[in-house]
Amino acid sequence: MSEDEKSPPRRKMVRLPTAGTAAGRGMGTKMKTADDKSMSSQQWIKRQLADKWSERARAEGWRSRAAFKLMEIDDRLGLIRPGVRVIDLGAAPGGWVQVALKRGAKAVVGVDLLMIEPIPGAELIQADFTHAGVDQQLIDALGGAPDLVLSDMAHNTIGHRQTDHLKIIALIEIAAEFALRTLKPGGHFVTKNFQGGDAGGVLAELRANFRDVKYIKPASSRKDSSEVYLVALDRNQTR
Ligand code: SAM
Repeated sequence: MSEDEKSPPRRKMVRLPTAGTAAGRGMGTKMKTADDKSMSSQQWIKRQLADKWSERARAEGWRSRAAFKLMEIDDRLGLIRPGVRVIDLGAAPGGWVQVALKRGAKAVVGVDLLMIEPIPGAELIQADFTHAGVDQQLIDALGGAPDLVLSDMAHNTIGHRQTDHLKIIALIEIAAEFALRTLKPGGHFVTKNFQGGDAGGVLAELRANFRDVKYIKPASSRKDSSEVYLVALDRNQTR
C-alpha cells in the first residue's frame, strides 16, 4: 500500500515521549490536547496530498514534481510545439527540461545555480542567471532565439517577508526582460509568480508585448502555497 492510501493516524490520547527530554525531567507527563492532535492530523493529510505528486514523479521517471505543473500548463495552452527551441531558467533538477524534450522540443538549454545531472538532448549550464553575460551564453548554447522561455526560478526564502518579496520580484523582472528581449515573434513566456506579489510593472509590460497574459495555478502546485504561474502568449512582432 502506498503512503497515499494509508489511513491518517487515529485520534487517540498520545503520551508524549518524556525520557531524556526537558519536559520529562521533573516536569511531569504532558498530554497532547485535542487541538494539537487535530493540527497534526491536518498536517499529515496535507503532507500526503503534497507527496502524492512527488511519488508519482518518481514512479514515472520525472526528476521533480514540478514536471506536472509544466505538463498541465502545456496541456491547457499548447506551448511546446514539435521543433521548438526552449530556454529554462532555474532548471534544476530538470523536470521541466524533461517535459520540453518529451513533448518535442528540438533544443533545450537549462541554467541553474545548482549542477544538473546530464539529460540527453539538453545543454545544461551551472551559473547564476542574474550575472552579466549568462543571458548571451544561453542564446549561444541554443544557437539562436528561443520560441519559449520558461522560468521556475525561486530563491531560498529567508523568512523576512519584504526581503523575500523583493527577491521574488527581481527574479520575475529579470526573466521577463530576457524573454522580451530574446523571444521570437509568436513565442511564449512562463514564469513562476506569487499571489499578492506586486508584479504590476512586469504585468503591464507583458500585456503590452504579448497577445494575452494568463495566470494559472496547476493542480500539482501546493494548495497552501501562493505560487501561481504567469503565462504570456504570442510575443508581438515588434522588431
Ligand atoms: N523547474 C524545475 C524542475 O522542473 O525541476 C524546478 C526549479 S526549482 C523550483 C527553482 C530553481 O531555481 C532552484 O533549483 C534554484 O537553484 C534556481 N535558481 C534560483 N535563483 C537562480 C538564479 N539566479 N540563477 C539560476 N537559477 C536560480
